[in-house]
Amino acid sequence: MRILIAGGAGFIGSHLCERYLKDGHEVIAVDNFVTSTPANLAHLTQHPRFTLIEADITEPLSQITQPLDVVLNFASPASPIDYLELPLETLKVGSYGTHNTLDLARRTNAVYLLASTSEVYGDPLQHPQPETYFGNVNPIGVRSVYDEAKRYAEAAVMAYHRTYGLRTRIVRIFNTYGPRMRLNDGRVVPNFVRQALNHEPLTIYGDGQQTRSFQYVDDLVEGVVRLASTDHVQPVNIGNPSEFTILQFAHIVNQLTDNPAGIVYKPDLRISDDPQTRRPDISRAHDLLGWQPRIDIIEGLTRTIAHYEGRDDLA
Ligand code: UDP
Repeated sequence: MRILIAGGAGFIGSHLCERYLKDGHEVIAVDNFVTSTPANLAHLTQHPRFTLIEADITEPLSQITQPLDVVLNFASPASPIDYLELPLETLKVGSYGTHNTLDLARRTNAVYLLASTSEVYGDPLQHPQPETYFGNVNPIGVRSVYDEAKRYAEAAVMAYHRTYGLRTRIVRIFNTYGPRMRLNDGRVVPNFVRQALNHEPLTIYGDGQQTRSFQYVDDLVEGVVRLASTDHVQPVNIGNPSEFTILQFAHIVNQLTDNPAGIVYKPDLRISDDPQTRRPDISRAHDLLGWQPRIDIIEGLTRTIAHYEGRDDLA
């Protein structure tokens, strides 16, 4: 198959490029590098089945003329700090970018898969979150540029499916970590790993009692590949249901890195509307895709820490 991955140079996109090449497919990555880097794909650029195109998907993608089998849309700023700094870009890529990639899939008669997010559930009042939950999103909060853009993107995908019969899929991605996350993207995993490897105290925002459920990137990639090859149009959560408070998570990182510096509590100056709990209900992924996460937090963090250890940009 020939597979186009918008956002292919990003953290998750680059892992998808690798996986589809390994499975024998042809991969075209499209990226404007606003929150990513070509360095994430440096090891693939000589691959005979790989092409990297620098383009902004908020513009029509008329330069792409090849037949395509699958279009995966993973292009968006995705960390709270990024979408706070890039609010209009985040809204545009979720709206115009989704329309342009949907039009591309329609023109080429490709399957379309949207990377959506657990943020569509906002600060959830239902726990854990099944796909049938409509969410609790503040439409005017600072996170709304991402949450509402992704909710809009889901609506656009369903409209293309209903109007044109486009073969569409929606994956709702829960917190994902692993190699190639930007060390300065402000999210908790890169922050904690960077701080721990520098033997600095880990910064806990608020009281650390808020929870997240972290999945290793390889598990997510497996779920996405499986979903893309089904004909399931309804959204599917892909995430690891093992839930930790941020305080528990900090202790795990400090233990794995032998960090003597402990933790420090700080007010979260970045952003308000921090969801207090988050945990996926993955029954649908399990039933439809036979999928469940395989890599636990200790193994995933050990691999991630090994990736960053000794790097000169840690400081
Ligand atoms: N967080 C923290 N310290 C940090 C970075 C994040 O305590 O240095 C907290 C943040 O307040 C949130 C959780 O960790 O409750 C996850 O934040 P992240 O930015 O990774 O992603 P989110 O799940 O909020 O999109």
